[in-house]
Amino acid sequence: MSESRPSFYDLDQAALTELAASLGWPAYRATQLHEWQMKGAVSFDVMNNLSKTMRTELAERLNAAPLELLMLETSQDDDTRKALFRLSDGHMIETVVMRYGDHRSVCVSSQVGCAMGCRFCASTGAGLARNLTDGEMLAQVLFMQREIGQKVTHVTVMGIGEPLQNLAALILFIRRLADPKGPHISMRRITVSTCGLPDMMLKLADAKLPVNLAVSLHAPNQQLRESLMPIARHVDLTELLSVCRRITEQNGRRITFEYALFDRINDAEEHASELAERLRGMLCHVNLIPANRVEGTPYRKSPADRVRRFQAVLEQQGIVVSVRRELGSDITAACGQLRRKRESWTTP
Ligand code: SAH
Repeated sequence: MSESRPSFYDLDQAALTELAASLGWPAYRATQLHEWQMKGAVSFDVMNNLSKTMRTELAERLNAAPLELLMLETSQDDDTRKALFRLSDGHMIETVVMRYGDHRSVCVSSQVGCAMGCRFCASTGAGLARNLTDGEMLAQVLFMQREIGQKVTHVTVMGIGEPLQNLAALILFIRRLADPKGPHISMRRITVSTCGLPDMMLKLADAKLPVNLAVSLHAPNQQLRESLMPIARHVDLTELLSVCRRITEQNGRRITFEYALFDRINDAEEHASELAERLRGMLCHVNLIPANRVEGTPYRKSPADRVRRFQAVLEQQGIVVSVRRELGSDITAACGQLRRKRESWTTP
């Protein structure tokens, strides 16, 4: 399968305006095209305010469907849905939408696969194929919004991939998401999760986007962290935490540390004390994730009483803690369960 036309969704408003001009169309045509994009249109045929000739011209130049929805699963126990999308080059990614209260939150993938290698995570097994474009990330949100028929209120870049390895596209994506003429999702409702790449975190901070930053810590010391996250061999934990501290001091916003609790691996009270010690005085918050089961890994979820004890130790030492809701694990839509599906695909 080869798709040589550029993707319609990779064109932002400025690019659509240029396109309209190059075709000799008045500027309002660009606005119409943008409006169709925001509705999640996947074919030029549906654009009934454009003439047949215009639609044909567009279809010759652009691919309107950068993501093809292959499967949509709905969780039994909650209002979580997971989509399997095929990209125009044949690769597959997954996207999740979660609903709770009046939140409708989309968990976006940023890469096809992942190169970070975290031992407990399904996304990394088949390695990294490529980065996603800003349009492919935006289309995940717009298509999920269309599927649920409700406006998305929050976006987390916590699906497949390491978003800071795809920083340029990530920044474009965030700006397009926050655009008042676009989905208009406030940057304060957008969270970027990273396995903790200090240089890239500083670059993201330089862009001065008021998004939330979440750092996957999962261990209170270098040795344990390396055993869980191979990327940690290249990242000194002390340096990582001092960069985190610097970032919060510069932007005045609370940073989130994600800590997945694996039974008898990183969930002892001593680990909690060590963690509290290292985070002391930082403007931060620890989000505990009762680990999700990933086939083929030896890691098990910490039992509820160990989660509670870990939480209590942190709180006693003055750390703000929350425990992540467990949504969608029956359809393998929970943290760490998304994967680059059907990896047996033939190379596109
Ligand atoms: N690469 C980014 C974002 C993707 S992972 C990052 O590392 O942060 C999103 C979150 O899910 C991360 O905190 C990740 O460590 C966590 N995660 C991965 N596998 C998990 C598992 N089996 N159980 C619980 N959380 C998991």
